[in-house]
Amino acid sequence: MSFSKLGLCSELLRAIKEEGYTTPTPIQSKSIPVILSKKDVLAAAQTGTGKTAGFTLPLLQRLKKSHSKDKKSHIRALILIPTRELAAQVAQSVETYGKHLPFKTAVIFGGVGINPQKALLRKGVDIVIATPGRLLDLISQDSLNLSKIEFLILDEADRMLDMGFINDIKKILKLVPKQRQNLLFSATFSPDIKKLADGLLNSPILIEA
Ligand code: AMP
Repeated sequence: MSFSKLGLCSELLRAIKEEGYTTPTPIQSKSIPVILSKKDVLAAAQTGTGKTAGFTLPLLQRLKKSHSKDKKSHIRALILIPTRELAAQVAQSVETYGKHLPFKTAVIFGGVGINPQKALLRKGVDIVIATPGRLLDLISQDSLNLSKIEFLILDEADRMLDMGFINDIKKILKLVPKQRQNLLFSATFSPDIKKLADGLLNSPILIEA
């Protein structure tokens, strides 16, 4: 299996080549075609399996397909993540794989000043990678609006629940449009994760690495 056979565009294939990747990992081979086919995904994947590229690459390609140069940019994809370290890592991956594409990203987490994040959002971004608490702060201060997102991704969902983010997640789910593609990645599948997945995903395809 090669990345080009997975149906990725030339900008992404170039970035992948520049990273030195030659072969997709098992989770990438499984998740990329399913996400490109616009289906919801429930994926069991540990860190280290290449799962970040497994959702970032097809997300970027889906954004590119319907990208309009003329429109003022609004937030089209939200990646929710439990910690600032992970948020920074995922943002780095989005920047790396998306370096030949025109999308702007913002990484949002607490414990640092809110004003630089507001200033970045004012310029217009396509993809937001965020921890739930600071995201809600920015929403309550009218600095961020999720009413036009097309993609919602929950990464390390089990850790988000372990850290007590379920109520924040529920609040966020009330602010996103009904029509969207959802991806949920988790290392483990507790009854609580299954409940969250049931409320979030539409006929998801199950993927295991
Ligand atoms: P992740 O599981 O997403 O945290 O990725 C683990 C590591 O694998 C990261 O350092 C990636 O840069 C690397 N990686 C992801 N996909 C591939 C691939 N197809 N070939 C080689 N390395 C990869």
